[in-house]
Amino acid sequence: MNIILLGPPGAGKGTQAKRLEDAYGIPQLSTGDMLREAVTSGSEIGQKAKQVMDAGELMPDGLMVKMIEDRIQQKDCAKGFILDGFPRTVAQAEALDEMLARLGTGLDHVIELKVDEEALVERIVGRYACARCGAGYHDMFQKPKVDGVCDYCGATQFKRRPDDNEETVRARMEAYRDQTAPILPYYKEKSILKQVDGMADIDEVTTELKKILNGGG
Ligand code: ADP
Ligand code: ADP
Ligand code: ZN
Repeated sequence: MNIILLGPPGAGKGTQAKRLEDAYGIPQLSTGDMLREAVTSGSEIGQKAKQVMDAGELMPDGLMVKMIEDRIQQKDCAKGFILDGFPRTVAQAEALDEMLARLGTGLDHVIELKVDEEALVERIVGRYACARCGAGYHDMFQKPKVDGVCDYCGATQFKRRPDDNEETVRARMEAYRDQTAPILPYYKEKSILKQVDGMADIDEVTTELKKILNGGG
């Protein structure tokens, strides 16, 4: 099952992708995470990615398409994948269709998480993650069960993304509006686009997504 989760920064794509990964046994492919790994490694791509991400802009299409093409051919994607953060432009969406056709497969579900823009800044500025296992949290909306201790791995160190500040968020939302939102009509025309209310509680959003993925939505 090949799935795309679409939506602006802070819509809940990563949070939901992690849950679906566990439920359906297919990996979450987050291009943002891949780029952050490149930044940590200090590679040439990483150095460029750091500048681009700090500015809230997008990386070049060709590079991102190549990154995903390499990734989906790895063994763990044999049963499918959940794309989180890709495609982000119409050119990426077209390249994805072309590549999947060439690989003898296609998309099963494209789901947009619809969220009010005012909610996004609050979500992003309060976002943090476990420094060891990467589990996602929020200062108000998704606290660990025991204060300061990761629910999943027990670690007590957490991290925040350098681009999760109000100024960069505004630039990222603009990039979404200008460059990513035009993907929605692209998939709508292909009658593959479904929408879920991303303003609902985290558990409720998961329930709605599963309804769609199980064929009932
Ligand atoms: P994205 O991957 O789309 O950028 P995330 O999944 O990282 O978004 O979510 C952004 C922040 O908002 C995280 O801190 C997460 O805990 C929180 N969050 C995610 N979904 C919801 C929701 N339905 N209601 C409230 N907060 C949420
Ligand atoms: P969020 O979902 O919170 O917006 P991501 O982790 O998906 O953030 O992406 C972080 C940054 O990485 C983006 O602001 C952008 O600079 C870069 N990026 C991630 N995916 C892509 C992509 N498919 N194309 C271009 N740039 C990307
Ligand atoms: Zn953890």
